[in-house]
Amino acid sequence: MNLAVVLVSPKTPGNIGSAARAMLNMGASDLRIVAPRCDHLDSQAVAMAVHAADLLRGARIYSTLREALADRDLSVGTSARLRADLPAPRHPALVRPLVRQAAAPALVFGPEETGLINSDLEQCQVTVRIPTGDYASLNLAQAVLLVCYEFLQGQDEPAPVTRKTATREEMEAMYGHLQETMHLIGYTDAVRARHTLRLWRAMLDRALMSSAESRLFRGFLRQVKWKVDDAAGRGTEAGPDRETRTTEAGEV
Ligand code: SAH
Repeated sequence: MNLAVVLVSPKTPGNIGSAARAMLNMGASDLRIVAPRCDHLDSQAVAMAVHAADLLRGARIYSTLREALADRDLSVGTSARLRADLPAPRHPALVRPLVRQAAAPALVFGPEETGLINSDLEQCQVTVRIPTGDYASLNLAQAVLLVCYEFLQGQDEPAPVTRKTATREEMEAMYGHLQETMHLIGYTDAVRARHTLRLWRAMLDRALMSSAESRLFRGFLRQVKWKVDDAAGRGTEAGPDRETRTTEAGEV
């Protein structure tokens, strides 16, 4: 499985090295680091990686999570905590079928002290939480080990049919377009936009759209903009009784 592990803003070289080792142990090799706060090739990191030093050297560095996820078709966030305003994290075993059917999944891990922030988790279609005792915050590399273990098991079982899902970049561009359209038609405002879009993202992410479906949706958004601009140009309100673009274009 082409599974990427994304570490968001890790602070401790030893944790990055240990995470690389955990990946190699479990059979993952694509390490991505977003805005690191230390040198991921520090001697401490290389020492903790042991035989995974090459994997560590091959890590790719990104400045934003969005860039790190651009080519992925599924992003799974991880969190030690429940967040009041986000969907509850799920047990990793329940998410395994979704990951096994993805062509290019990513697992996203947060900084040691704070974990992922809400805007990071919003870029993940689903969040998992490893069940623990009362002290839920695992060491970063140990969390990488357990989540990779969960998702990389059963590789010898018959391969599931891989889904063809839009990349995260296509979905993020679609959400940007949706937000612009919401503002354009006054569906939301600057204060409520974040919450509104979060609800729409959750709904549309569940649909696991294909690239073609994301383009279909954006075609609809383009038509909404065209209609609003056209109505504004005529000094009228866009309404259901107006003629369609096709008819009007044909009349010109
Ligand atoms: N104090 C932070 C924990 C940071 S631990 C918090 O409360 O969220 C660093 C990272 O390890 C987390 O961002 C998450 O990616 C992972 N992690 C730690 N404990 C986890 C758990 N129980 N389940 C899933 N991921 C966990």
